[in-house]
Amino acid sequence: MMESADQGLLKDKAMQIIARLEEAGHQAYLVGGCVRDEWLGRPVKDYDIATSALPERVEELFERTIPTGLQHGTVTVVVDRLPFEVTTFRKEAGYADYRRPASVEYIEVLEEDLRRRDFTMNAMAMDGRGRILDPFGGQVDLDHGVLRCVGSAAERFSEDALRMLRGIRFAAEYGLEVEAESWTALAASAPLLAHIALERVRAELERMMGGSDPSRALRLLGRSRLLGHTKAGLLWARLPEHLDDWPDLGKLTSAEQRIAYVYGRLDAPVKDCAADLKLLTFSGKQIDAITALLAARSWLQEFPPCDSSAVRTVWQRAAIRYGKSTLHALLNLYRLDPAFAGEARSAVPIWIESGETWLEQMPAASLQELAVTGQDILERLQTRGGPWTGKLLQRLLERTALGLLPNDKEALLQAALAEYDEYRETDKL
Ligand code: ATP
Ligand code: MG
Repeated sequence: MMESADQGLLKDKAMQIIARLEEAGHQAYLVGGCVRDEWLGRPVKDYDIATSALPERVEELFERTIPTGLQHGTVTVVVDRLPFEVTTFRKEAGYADYRRPASVEYIEVLEEDLRRRDFTMNAMAMDGRGRILDPFGGQVDLDHGVLRCVGSAAERFSEDALRMLRGIRFAAEYGLEVEAESWTALAASAPLLAHIALERVRAELERMMGGSDPSRALRLLGRSRLLGHTKAGLLWARLPEHLDDWPDLGKLTSAEQRIAYVYGRLDAPVKDCAADLKLLTFSGKQIDAITALLAARSWLQEFPPCDSSAVRTVWQRAAIRYGKSTLHALLNLYRLDPAFAGEARSAVPIWIESGETWLEQMPAASLQELAVTGQDILERLQTRGGPWTGKLLQRLLERTALGLLPNDKEALLQAALAEYDEYRETDKL
C-alpha cells in the first residue's frame, strides 16, 4: 500500500520528537505497531515513541504535553496539534490477576522494554536514522507469516490473558499462522480469559469482526475454545470448533451484519442475543442494529409466505416493523447464505430478486413518511385521541405501504373517516 502524505507528515513529526530527545542526551525510538505496519507496507495509524528519558524530563523538553498515563510512564507530546505518545522504557513486574502489572519500573535499555511486549512483530523499534532494531526476530516471523510470542508463550499469556485475544486478532488481520508453542499455550491458557473485563473482550471481538478476515478470526476462536471462558457466560461459547460450512463473512459490509450472522448461527432467541451483546457492552446503537436483523429474520421465519403474492406482502410488512435499512442488510445475509432464512428459505430467491425493488416501491414504510399525522385525523374527526389513534394510523400505514391506498393527505383522511365509522359500529374503539 502507498504511504499517504499524511502518514509521511506524521512520521516526520515523530522523528522530530526523537531528534529532540536525542539532542538532550536520551535514547528514543519508534516502537510497536508503527514499525510493524511500516515493515508490512500497511497504513500506520499512530507513531508511538519509547525513550530512556523519564516522564518529567519529557514534560520539560516539549512545549505542549498532556500527562495521559503518567503512572505508566506515558506523556502525550503535541506537535502542530498532532498527538504522539512518548513512553519511558519500562519493565513490568508482579502481574496481578492475569491482567495487569502490579508495578512498572523505568529502565535504561531498549531491549528490556521490547521484551515485555506481546508478539515478536510488536517488539521491534526504529531509530532516528530509520534503522530497525529487532532483537526477537519479528521481521523473520513476518516474512514467514508467523505470529509468535516474545519469550515463553505460557508466561506471556498468564501475565496478561487479553494477549490471547490480541493474538487471534493479529493472526486474522495479518493472515498469520500462530506458531506451534504459542498456539499450544494459548489453548491451554484459555481459562485465564475469565480474568478479563468483558468490555475489553468486546473491543477485541469488535475489531476482529470489523477486520479484514472475520471468518479466520472465528475459526481461531472456535478452535481455541477461548470464548467458553469469559467472565460471564456468553452465547459465543457455543461457537463450533469447526466452521467448515460457514461462508466467508468478509463479504458482508459491516461488523454488525457479521455479528448478526454469528448469532443467527448460534440459534438463540433474540432476547438472549440482546442480553449477550449488553453484557459485552456493545453500544445501544450496535445492539439495536444487530437485534433488528435477528428479529426481522425470526419474524419472517414465523410467517413464511405461503403463495406468490404473500412473498411480497410479508416482505413489505417486515419493512414496516423493522425498517427498510434492516431489510436491506438482511438481504446481504440471505445472499451470503440462503439457509440463514431457515423456514422462510424457499422465498429467499424471490426476495433477493425483487426485495430491493419492493422496498423502493413502498410509498411509506414508517409513520413519519405517511402523508397524514394523528393530529390531522383528530382535527378532521373533531374528536379527541385515544389508544385507537395509534392503531388507526398503523392500519393506514400498512395499507399505504402495501400500495392499497395512495400516500395522499386527503385520501388518507377519507380512509381514516371510513375506518373510524367502522370501528364505532363494531365497538372496536
Ligand atoms: P493496533 O493499534 O493496530 O492494535 P498496536 O501494535 O499499535 O496495534 P496497541 O494496542 O496500540 O497495538 O499497542 C502498542 C504496542 O504496545 C504494541 O505493539 C505492543 O508492543 C504493546 N502492547 C500493547 N498491548 C500489549 C499487551 N497486552 N501485552 C504486551 N504488549 C502490549
Ligand atoms: Mg496502536
